[in-house]
Amino acid sequence: MSRRPVVAGNWKMNLSLSDSAALAAQVTDLAKDAPKVDVLLFPPFPWLIPVRDAIGDAPVGLGAQTCHSTVSGAFTGEVAPEMLADVCAFVLVGHSERRQLFGESNDVVASKLAAVLRAGLQPVLCVGETLAEREAGTAQAVVGGQVDAALAGIDPAAVASLLIAYEPVWAIGTGLAATADDAQDMCAFVRARVDTQVPGAGNTLRVLYGGSVTPANAAELFAQADIDGGLVGGASLKATTFGPLIEAANAIGRV
Ligand code: PEP
Repeated sequence: MSRRPVVAGNWKMNLSLSDSAALAAQVTDLAKDAPKVDVLLFPPFPWLIPVRDAIGDAPVGLGAQTCHSTVSGAFTGEVAPEMLADVCAFVLVGHSERRQLFGESNDVVASKLAAVLRAGLQPVLCVGETLAEREAGTAQAVVGGQVDAALAGIDPAAVASLLIAYEPVWAIGTGLAATADDAQDMCAFVRARVDTQVPGAGNTLRVLYGGSVTPANAAELFAQADIDGGLVGGASLKATTFGPLIEAANAIGRV
């Protein structure tokens, strides 16, 4: 089964309202020239609707960077996936900044993943080891544990079309991307791990690499057999750096 490449921009807590709308319009133009790629944008919460308006009917997916696991209630400051479902189609779940800075354990990530699916949204599950864990030789154990915990509570039928982003924490925002070989190895490992949980799903779900993807390294990373594109932070904040990533993914598009 062919897996369409994905290039996803995680804007994190960056960009003004006007810059967001302008960038979304530029990305929308770029996406129109890249028919073999799913282009996704993850702006900050308050910019979701203006970015949606800038995208219009164009083939650009829109997502939130996190959500709560509950449908509604006394959770000041939080946003339910059911609310997001009226605005966007995707949600990042378990980004390493959420895990590290906001204390999201594997259990919390699992409950959010289930909640996103409950609301009919497409989750992008993020996994990845820290530098200390890689140096200790436990990278696969950590990532495997994150995958197992996240999948434990969800309907196996949803796993085949899941998006998982392998993002080594030491590569995020550091300029030190994983080598293509190392990224390929871990993305293949993630795929195999999923397959042990839900046989067959390992071949159909899409696994992205994230961590200092740039126009200089994207083509090599995206060409790896088990990498279906990228989750991109810094380079997604300008059309001049995001555009070449979309082009690189389009060039190897497996449609
Ligand atoms: C990210 O935020 O998920 C990310 C991969 O960031 P960067 O591309 O800047 O490393």
